[in-house]
Amino acid sequence: MNYAAPTQIESIVHALFEPMGTGGVYARTSRFERAIDGLVGLISRYRAPQTEVFKFPPVMSRKQLERSGYLKSFPHLLGCVSCLHGQETEIRALVDGAGASQDWASALSATDLVLAPAACYPLYPIVAARGRLGESGQQFDVTCDCFRHESSYEAGRFQSFRMREYVCIGSPEHVLAFRHDWMERAKEFADVLALPYRIASASDPFFGRAGKLMAVSQVEQELKFELLIPVNSQQNPTACMSFNYHRDHFGTTWGIETAAGNVAHTGCVAFGMDRLALALFATHGIDLQKWPKSAREALSV
Ligand code: ATP
Ligand code: ZN
Ligand code: MG
Repeated sequence: MNYAAPTQIESIVHALFEPMGTGGVYARTSRFERAIDGLVGLISRYRAPQTEVFKFPPVMSRKQLERSGYLKSFPHLLGCVSCLHGQETEIRALVDGAGASQDWASALSATDLVLAPAACYPLYPIVAARGRLGESGQQFDVTCDCFRHESSYEAGRFQSFRMREYVCIGSPEHVLAFRHDWMERAKEFADVLALPYRIASASDPFFGRAGKLMAVSQVEQELKFELLIPVNSQQNPTACMSFNYHRDHFGTTWGIETAAGNVAHTGCVAFGMDRLALALFATHGIDLQKWPKSAREALSV
């Protein structure tokens, strides 16, 4: 199949979003949201029977995220909700004249909330609290607005973006089969949307020098794959989905047990909703009426 090369990504971004005064944060137009709504519906049609659905808010417990080990791996990406604490007079003194000085901002202190950096973190403690899993493990469909303090804002790298995930919790066999099936299904998904892609082994953006070793080991163990689609360039395609195997990390952290009483393994398949929508516009152009028939039908646009 011949695909149009993604061109003029800047003018596409200009047509789809309004800037909001800071990098990587945009007002999304109705044109963009039509593609998002189509993707939401299409992804829901892939939902396996018995899957439990959660919509998480954009904030989560700071303690839970700390316990998940996030600060060891990605402290540089995390955003924390901070507020002014204290009596009325103290707060009044800090904010009077705000704008001229930064005093009020330096007086902020952390609350017990962080901005969710991925959709699946709040799920594990909920599942752990329910006791042992059933015989065949369990699947979940989770959605969240996520925040990451990214260090660059090329097209498709937002500070605030939407993530949808299917998560599998069970034995290692359950999770590996789930991930394998989804890597096959993702090819169908990209084909029906007429998106050019490749699936490649990947590593997470771990922090610092020690992080480089963690990334090497993650690739060696094939814990992460990504579906890559050209958005900014053919040479550096953009990760629009990821397929992750966490082994027993969350099972051990939260004490999740399989029906047989073993530590549960977990895995997730993440859809970067804003990136998938942007990839559609980058590939097929901004006029939805001109998109390939199979994509328009699949997305009902
Ligand atoms: P990247 O490879 O771009 O650094 P990642 O490997 O950190 O992303 P994951 O943690 O696997 O990404 O997140 C799941 C999915 O969420 C990604 O495949 C991507 O589609 C989307 N995503 C991640 N970070 C961003 C972002 N800053 N803006 C938009 N979408 C994002
Ligand atoms: Zn996940
Ligand atoms: Mg990546």
